[in-house]
Amino acid sequence: MSQSPTSPTYDDVLSAAARIAPRAHRTPVLRSRRINEIVGADVVFKCENFQRMGAFKFRGAFNALSRFTPEQRRSGVITYSSGNHAQAIALAARLLDIPATIIMPHDAPASKVAATEGYGGKIIRYDRYTGHREEIGRALAADRGLTLIPPYDHPDVIAGQGTAAKELFDEAGDLDALFVPLGGGGLLSGTALSARALSPGCALYGVEPEAGDDGRRSLRQGSIVQIDTPKTIADGAQTQRLGTHTFEIIRREVDDIVTATDADLVDAMKLFGSAMKIVVEPTGCLGLAAVRGLAAQLGGKRVGVIVSGGNVDLDRYASLLAS
Ligand SMILES: *Cc1c(COP(=O)(O)O)cnc(C)c1O
Repeated sequence: MSQSPTSPTYDDVLSAAARIAPRAHRTPVLRSRRINEIVGADVVFKCENFQRMGAFKFRGAFNALSRFTPEQRRSGVITYSSGNHAQAIALAARLLDIPATIIMPHDAPASKVAATEGYGGKIIRYDRYTGHREEIGRALAADRGLTLIPPYDHPDVIAGQGTAAKELFDEAGDLDALFVPLGGGGLLSGTALSARALSPGCALYGVEPEAGDDGRRSLRQGSIVQIDTPKTIADGAQTQRLGTHTFEIIRREVDDIVTATDADLVDAMKLFGSAMKIVVEPTGCLGLAAVRGLAAQLGGKRVGVIVSGGNVDLDRYASLLAS
């Protein structure tokens, strides 16, 4: 279903950066003296929790929809997601005046449904225990002439996600290591394109929840490993497998994939709140959690962390902080 079936390159990231510049925020790069003392390294945080709709996913969604032909724009976009990609597609579609249909599980959190509807997305519910969202998406797309933009496995989505790391390197310069949250791999593969072009010596790490280490296993094994939906508080990384496009780039460019436990994520969430005064959703804490775990190896280095998003219900945030 992809519009451009070939693997994206850094040139595609540059084109994406130009396309999204008028609409996406250039998010801040922040540092914390306290975190530097704890880790013993110079750590820079690219804060996509301050991106439009609260996560980096706006970048890939807006880039992909910007490339629609006039006919695709008239017919509309369809996607499946219960999380940040749904909101990203709904917002990007509204800005570009494209009708958006989002397939969501019947038990998706009311706040996510409301946010997606608030951006003007039309929601179709399915039963996550009996329905298969990708099949429903493909069938509706074919039936109604809609273009399917999946959450990560699409060249234009990958190129768009790569713009966050481009901005980080443009601002912070060379890094020794960069840590990136990993679900289906759109963010990590896009980041790899920018890292290899802008800081070739930078070691690149994906970070996934320990309960769902399919990415690490896929990298070790050299082929995509599929798992059951993992139980973790990192709801943005509850994917069952890497994508075909994302894995091709990850296996070529990524140095290693490491994991963090839910307890590590809660500790990192607390540190973001107390040391930096920022609200970060559990999935967005993966990078800092990994850096703390690997502090012994990172001493004195220049380390980057992508803080991928900040969308967490405040009552859930409060109960995680209290846990
Ligand atoms: C989607 C998402 C991720 C994972 O991104 P992938 O491209 O699927 O690897 C990480 N963090 C947040 C906040 C997300 O929304």
